[in-house]
Amino acid sequence: MGIYNDPVLSTSLVIMAWAVFWHHWHGVGITLGYHRLLTHKSLSVPKWLEYLICSGAYFALMGSPIVWVGVHRQHHQKSDQPGDPHSPRDGFWHSLYKWMYYTGKVQSDEELQKQAADLMTDPLYKRLGCDHGAYHAKLNLFFCVLFRIVLFIVFGWQCVVGNLIATFTIFWSTQFVNAFCHLPGLGYRSYKTTEDSRNVWWVGLLAVGEGWHNNHHAVPKSARHGLQWWEFDFTFCCIVLLERLGLATRVVLPSKELLAKKRETSVIGKAQQNLSAAMTHAAEAAQKAAEVASAAVHEAAECAYLAAEAAGKSAREAAEAASNAARDAAEQAGKSAREAALAAGKTASEAAEAASLAARDALETAELAIAQLVSPKESVAG
Ligand SMILES: [Zn+2]
Ligand SMILES: [Zn+2]
Repeated sequence: MGIYNDPVLSTSLVIMAWAVFWHHWHGVGITLGYHRLLTHKSLSVPKWLEYLICSGAYFALMGSPIVWVGVHRQHHQKSDQPGDPHSPRDGFWHSLYKWMYYTGKVQSDEELQKQAADLMTDPLYKRLGCDHGAYHAKLNLFFCVLFRIVLFIVFGWQCVVGNLIATFTIFWSTQFVNAFCHLPGLGYRSYKTTEDSRNVWWVGLLAVGEGWHNNHHAVPKSARHGLQWWEFDFTFCCIVLLERLGLATRVVLPSKELLAKKRETSVIGKAQQNLSAAMTHAAEAAQKAAEVASAAVHEAAECAYLAAEAAGKSAREAAEAASNAARDAAEQAGKSAREAALAAGKTASEAAEAASLAARDALETAELAIAQLVSPKESVAG
């Protein structure tokens, strides 16, 4: 009796055991290898061990190390700001998985290679792909399939099924860090950093220690992410083990003073946030005021134009009326002058005629008088 006599149950347990193993192996590949070792240089290990650990990430569909590291360094530089590859501020589904299709839009290949310049000198990493093209993803998929064929040949189908389950769970647990650990309202914040990062306990467990993401953003170089006793960090347990075995050196840990300082600077961070919010409000108010002023000026200009038009019309009309009146007056004056001149002319002509008649009469009288003077002489002589 017992589970060994039940083939379905025992096979299920074998598959589950493989799944748990592979979840942690791939998980440590991502968190210890790609993240804490390659991206943040939180510790040093021999090159052969670095390749072995990082293979766990590569075979979990995480793509080329150079692309992963370049994208993640950009996330730290532009967290929850424009240019962050996977901020929930651009939408929850974007931060969960859609971001993978748009990395080339927020980061050029040149920027990527600059971000991961230290890894560009490693010929193996470079061969696995160092740009946002589809090549590195296709190559990664090919090696992932090949890896599982080898698992099938060496360990059997239960191992492969367990590995496929683990690949699914660890792949999405990693995406949960990007989405849930930057989502306001979830978990808690121990350090008031400038982005929305949060510590989410269930992501901490699923993603083998990566859910203490607010701690990580506060001290990114720290090899330890779970900084309180209850913040279980499986990856850091592995680092401690490697250190005890003499395989890990230069493990970076934050001092108590640095953490205290981070909590202190959080006050400054809060003040900066408040100042930034006040400036945003002020800028918005100024823009609204400018809009209102612009509308008022526009309206005033329109009124002025209408008034000017009306005034112009009135002036034109007045000028026209004045001109008409002047013309009438001039016409009238001309007429009177003509009439007066005519009348004057007539009077003058009459006077002249009368004068002429009077003159003729006078002449006649004179002639008569002369004749009378002459006749007595003639009668004397006669
Ligand atoms: Zn983050
Ligand atoms: Zn990081």
